[in-house]
Amino acid sequence: MLSEITIKAEALRRNYSFFEGRVGRERLAAVVKSNAYGHGLQQVYEVLAPLNPAWLCVNYLAEAKELRTLGFKGRILVCGPFTPDQIPAAIQTEADVFVGTPEALTAVLASPTPIRMHLEFDTGMSRQGFAPSRAAEIAKMVSPRPEIVAGVCTHFANVEDVLEHNYATQQLEKFEQVRMAFVARGLKPLFHTASSASTLILPESVMDLHRVGVSLYGQWPSQATRLSFLNESGDVDGLEPVLSWHAPLTSVIDVDAGQYIGYGCTFRASRKMRIAVIPVGYYEGFPRAASGSSAYVLVHGARCQVVGRVCMNMMMIDVTEVPAAKVGDIAVLIGRDGAEFLSAGEVAGWADTIHYELLARLNPDIQRKIV
Ligand SMILES: *Cc1c(COP(=O)(O)O)cnc(C)c1O
Repeated sequence: MLSEITIKAEALRRNYSFFEGRVGRERLAAVVKSNAYGHGLQQVYEVLAPLNPAWLCVNYLAEAKELRTLGFKGRILVCGPFTPDQIPAAIQTEADVFVGTPEALTAVLASPTPIRMHLEFDTGMSRQGFAPSRAAEIAKMVSPRPEIVAGVCTHFANVEDVLEHNYATQQLEKFEQVRMAFVARGLKPLFHTASSASTLILPESVMDLHRVGVSLYGQWPSQATRLSFLNESGDVDGLEPVLSWHAPLTSVIDVDAGQYIGYGCTFRASRKMRIAVIPVGYYEGFPRAASGSSAYVLVHGARCQVVGRVCMNMMMIDVTEVPAAKVGDIAVLIGRDGAEFLSAGEVAGWADTIHYELLARLNPDIQRKIV
């Protein structure tokens, strides 16, 4: 592919250390699922490995396998749905797995080779996990096998989107009931609830393990999270974006007033214009839904609007006001160019989505270069 992603190693190390400083090495689980939020699993692992992370967190056992192949010897926590057919892969990778269904629990308890499980309770997300009302019963069921009860956990539904955290507080209250049930059986698993946002702004969520994803990559989970953090600590410089994305201009043409640009003839030049093509489309991960909005990219540090519809592998931009623009010049799709900066969140916003989705969908075939 002609576009390229760069991974700023220093920023990633800095973000990792920021969280390590807050929760401690043993309690930090860096989430590297979905190709490390689009940053490249291999590249991110290469940067993190010298920092000797105790835990890495993924969604699939295939990702755990890849981390083992890359040489990771620490604990791997697989947070995705666990089904009985994944037992051999869990054993092979020596991964810890989330268990939140009766089927998975039965299978893990029946496995002759021990599998470390993290029992997930659904305290308000209605996604995965046992009902908290079943905690006493499940604690009793697993109490003869304390060595495989590695964790007991839940996941917050509503920390990112709000400034008031009553819903998270309710979830924490339910989780406390769950915790008591396990403690009452003499079990000492790792209790954990937090992802990026809760680790940053919900002190009550500070427990034995923190599954930190998006913010490891220097992204605030949301503006609300950033504001809450700012109110409490007054310092939002701890996180630095790790990824930037750029592509060369592959052609520059002049169009006359009245000429149409792109599929569907949705854009018509109202004056003489210079149009440049960038070899990035929705296949590469630039959302087609951004077409027709105020989407732009940076060329020579200037904002150039995306014109017409984003194609599968290309898009057209208006470089009329950048007379120096020529074939081979670099356009920035995410990142800094001179005084201008385009965040992943801003790009995502043009397509009515969030930076999580935009980053996770960056095509894995785009070359990632560590700088
Ligand atoms: C993805 C995920 C996380 C990380 O969330 P961020 O908001 O990216 O920090 C944590 N826990 C679970 C269960 C997840 O699926």
